[in-house]
Amino acid sequence: MTHCVDREAALNALFDGELDSLNAAEVEAHVRTCAGCSDYLTALADVREVIASAALDEVAPDGLRRRIEALVPSPDAAPTMPQRFPASRYLPWIGGGAIGALAASLALLVAAPEIGGDDLPDQLIAGHIRSLQAAHLTDVVTSDRHVVKPWFNGRIDFSPPVVDLAPQGFPLVGGRLDYIGDRPVAALVYRRRLHTINLFVRPISPNPSARGDTIRRHGYSVVHWVTGDLDYWAVSDIDPGDLGLFRQQFVNATTR
Ligand SMILES: [Zn+2]
Repeated sequence: MTHCVDREAALNALFDGELDSLNAAEVEAHVRTCAGCSDYLTALADVREVIASAALDEVAPDGLRRRIEALVPSPDAAPTMPQRFPASRYLPWIGGGAIGALAASLALLVAAPEIGGDDLPDQLIAGHIRSLQAAHLTDVVTSDRHVVKPWFNGRIDFSPPVVDLAPQGFPLVGGRLDYIGDRPVAALVYRRRLHTINLFVRPISPNPSARGDTIRRHGYSVVHWVTGDLDYWAVSDIDPGDLGLFRQQFVNATTR
């Protein structure tokens, strides 16, 4: 049974203890009802156990090693392999008893497609989840829009409008530089009570994969709009109606 691909980043983050309590609770609730995601977490735990119990100074015989290397594509040939388990790092020292389990787990991980691909909403949700992991949320932490806006100068070649929406219930927390689909984007970070909203801003793409929609996926909402020559994507786990209200307040504040 396969896990939910669009939850892979969240599952990895949960496994590494990197999610805040709200998101951890949400992912754990899903895992309790989803056999595929539950199996995925078990596989991660198996790999960790195998690695922990392997004799670190033991080198596999040459023949055995070659057979494993044939099973596992090199990192260059396997761009979809999750970075936290680069096979080449573990191959030199794995012991005999561990081989079968490790090879099986690695094969499972290699077969798991990376979150996103061409699907922009999945990439945006993955970016949102990444930002919730420790210390990645903001590069510049301030509610002062006069600090956030110039911070982007020289880091990106466009200038996102920055407004504080605290009076409307969406206080500005800060901003950071992020990458969605290998393109730099400005990420403005807002709060709605205890929840985080990431507002990704970038120049309009010539071939948009989705437009003007509200997308609801696995507990996250993505709201898209265009103003002038910029694309806006708000991502959060708040109620879709609240995220729609955020869009309305942001547009009101930046276009008057
Ligand atoms: Zn699932």
